[in-house]
Amino acid sequence: MERIGFCGLGTMGSAMAGNLRKAGFEVTVWNRSPGKAGELVAAGAREASSPAEVARNADIVVTCVSDTPDVEAVLFGPEGVAAGLASGGMVIDCSTISPDATRGFATRLADQGVGFVDAPVSGGSEGAHKATLTIFTGGTEADVERARPVLAAMGKTITHFGPAGAGQAVKAVNQVVISGVYLAVAEGVVLSMKAGLDPQAVVAALGGGVAGSWILANRSAKMVNNAYPLGFKTALHLKDLGIALEMARSLGVTLPVAGLAAQLEAGLLARGYGDEDMSNLARPIRQLSGMEG
Ligand code: NAP
Repeated sequence: MERIGFCGLGTMGSAMAGNLRKAGFEVTVWNRSPGKAGELVAAGAREASSPAEVARNADIVVTCVSDTPDVEAVLFGPEGVAAGLASGGMVIDCSTISPDATRGFATRLADQGVGFVDAPVSGGSEGAHKATLTIFTGGTEADVERARPVLAAMGKTITHFGPAGAGQAVKAVNQVVISGVYLAVAEGVVLSMKAGLDPQAVVAALGGGVAGSWILANRSAKMVNNAYPLGFKTALHLKDLGIALEMARSLGVTLPVAGLAAQLEAGLLARGYGDEDMSNLARPIRQLSGMEG
């Protein structure tokens, strides 16, 4: 079995690294801020003091950090993964970042004989805990096949779309689609409540029909209660829409709904709600409808 390193123990990474341990992999972990590795160490993981030290103890290093500059810092910064990974090693990046930058990272790693797979995920914190993530991959056929047993310990549906960056391009599409669904579910929830209907009964009934979705089933209650524990941070979704809108601009594509979601999310960040779950897109819909939001 290959030895696995894991950098980034946030909402997603801590659960994903835990599932690698459960699958029997030897795992060495690192997080920028201390105090995040306790449970993993108790489960048999080793904690390293830098990404380079993680890499020195691993054949494959998985990264799951916030944004493009963060992946660059973890891979190529001082004491980064690239400084510790031997030729023949591999990086799997599960963060959601820019497809263009991803292609650059893959080339830089290839120059030192290190493979690379972009493997952004969908399925929320629930999917990360249950190891049921949907994973979109980009990379060479050989690298993706080598990554597959590692990805299979964290997710259920793994699809290879093309060379490095292709997985990130698909993830951008995913983030565009969920923008519209979150907004539509928020509108439906608010309309139900203002109509004096029982929103829970409405959600249960709609779930069996064409309006059913993961977001309706798993996030509408937060919108009803106007309380948005994580989940997925609004600030991270706005980061993802930045990537998608830039792709759209360069390809001559118009994304009016994603653009609206980005504007509403910018307003949520300005009000200090960026660290809430992105179902807080219901806040502006509620507020514009005369409800607390
Ligand atoms: P999170 O809980 O905010 O955790 C972010 C992680 O990145 C933390 O471990 C953080 O370290 C680390 N980090 C950020 N900047 C860094 C830097 N410059 N150097 C080193 N480490 C850095 O985020 P998350 O929800 O786990 O999301 C992680 C990635 O998965 C993001 O790209 C996100 O878009 C994607 N994603 C999230 C979800 C979801 O439902 N949450 C679903 C699919 C995909 P510190 O602890 O030191 O801050």
